[in-house]
Amino acid sequence: MATATVLVVEDEPHLRELLRVYLEAEGYRVVEAGDGPRGLELACESGADLVILDLMLPSLDGRDVCRRLRERSNVPIIMLTARSDEVDRVVGLELGADDYVTKPFSPRELMARVRAVLRRVDGRADAPEGEEMRLAFADLVLDRRSRELLVRGSVIPCPPKEFELLWLLAAHPRRVFTREELLNMVWGYDHFGDLRTVDVHIRRLREKIERDPSEPRLLRTVWGVGYKFEEELGS
Ligand code: CA
Repeated sequence: MATATVLVVEDEPHLRELLRVYLEAEGYRVVEAGDGPRGLELACESGADLVILDLMLPSLDGRDVCRRLRERSNVPIIMLTARSDEVDRVVGLELGADDYVTKPFSPRELMARVRAVLRRVDGRADAPEGEEMRLAFADLVLDRRSRELLVRGSVIPCPPKEFELLWLLAAHPRRVFTREELLNMVWGYDHFGDLRTVDVHIRRLREKIERDPSEPRLLRTVWGVGYKFEEELGS
């Protein structure tokens, strides 16, 4: 596999330097931005495979950078949040970040997250021949190789975790998954997230795929249990 490029968007020079040292030791190419606008420019120019994005940035903060990045790209984003409160974590995930790490963090733990996120992205490209790569329904097409989501004929940007969650559910129509199962299968056993992570992603997916997100017909809640994907037939 070619060397992955990691873009670090962080305004504190010491922290940028620390991240560069650790990332380069892992064999990644590192590109740095000290503020949000430069980060957005570099995200496009550098062909970054992953973005480490600080939430607290001057001029254009991490939330806006994340939102704008998501409008144009599916590049995986790991967000650095200064506060550990639930609100920030949920906000990060709602904005389309793939993972988040709370400051102060252990560089080792962050490197483990970087590897995990890149492995998931890489795994999709290298999936064995013959494995199901495309799911097509009346309203939806999911292409796992290009990681493209088509909703009623339009390509809809879909961050990696949302795509994996939808793929898992759609590949097993009518099977009910508990939130614990979904958390473990999509995020892994070592993930620190709680069950609300699943709900946040389901809500985002509904906004993308449902005709009326307040009355979901595809991604159904099974009260007291979890979620299932309901194939809409004859529409
Ligand atoms: Ca900062």
